[in-house]
Amino acid sequence: MTHQVIILGSGPAGLTAALYTARAHLRPLVIDGHEAGGQLTLTTMVENFPGFPDGVMGPDLIANIRKQAERFGARFRAGGASAADLSRRPFRITVDGEAEECQSLIIATGASAKLLGLESERMLIGHGVSTCATCDGFFFQDQEVIVVGGGDSALEEAVFLTKFARRVSVLHRRDKLRASKIMQDKVLRNPKIDFLWDSTLEEILDVTQGKVTAVRIRNLKSSTITERPVEGIFIAIGHSPNTQIFRGLLEMDEVGYIRTHEGTKTSVPGVFAAGDVQDRVYRQAITAAGSGCMAALDAERFLEHTGL
Ligand code: NAP
Repeated sequence: MTHQVIILGSGPAGLTAALYTARAHLRPLVIDGHEAGGQLTLTTMVENFPGFPDGVMGPDLIANIRKQAERFGARFRAGGASAADLSRRPFRITVDGEAEECQSLIIATGASAKLLGLESERMLIGHGVSTCATCDGFFFQDQEVIVVGGGDSALEEAVFLTKFARRVSVLHRRDKLRASKIMQDKVLRNPKIDFLWDSTLEEILDVTQGKVTAVRIRNLKSSTITERPVEGIFIAIGHSPNTQIFRGLLEMDEVGYIRTHEGTKTSVPGVFAAGDVQDRVYRQAITAAGSGCMAALDAERFLEHTGL
């Protein structure tokens, strides 16, 4: 069976695209992706999504948009796309070894947490090293943890971790934060949070024990290296787009974000991109949802004009 629309990804962009294409009777098939629900499922209270004066829990917001899309006939399939053939229509997408075909494709695969690239970080991930405070914070009751990064994510993680940890140190490579003013104010007022400025992680110890016991920190101004005992490390240094399977098939920028033009069109007619996978500037739940709506309308028009 050839679907009229396949949507890759089930974060706010993919689900909004599903809602709109379902309401246009296009019976979209949503491929959930490896991180179903996207980044909002890894967060707690979302206070800046319009329409929720008291905030809304990220996972609840996602569950509700999904339910709303299902109500109008969107279909969902678990799993992630491992390959794509966009050279002719119908497009072919491989999911768990099976091919799915579609006349139009909306890519909303989002972005995933970046890592520092240290061997010790790779070895200790899940053993004291984490990229998600809301998932793992609970394990650090009354312990000392470090959050790496200086953006909104890092500060949000730091605040969340103070519910559990004895002390939270934010380690940042500069002496100025990138985070929004409101977030900075919140963190600077929190007595459990301190800062390690102009610093990078040189090494996470102790791989031989299979758990985090300490870190080696390099001060970038003085070049001195100090060792500090800690039990947890949270890496919050941003995200990279999930576009590996489209390399060479679609135009992308130098770090792999899909280039869009005239709304959500990509370099292949009939293929549209929405949300964080094509947005390295705004990256908000509401902008992702908005671009998901745009991609749905663009796909609908494309199908109408091509008579498919
Ligand atoms: P971000 O704004 O790109 O910040 C990444 C941080 O990590 C920066 O401080 C950066 O340092 C640092 N960094 C990057 N690569 C590094 C490396 N290899 N080693 C050490 N440090 C590194 O990413 P984000 O904090 O994930 O935020 C992404 C977007 O989501 C932003 O638009 C943000 O406003 C939004 N967001 C909003 C909220 C909210 O509104 N509540 C919450 C979370 C995120 P430099 O500063 O030196 O570049």
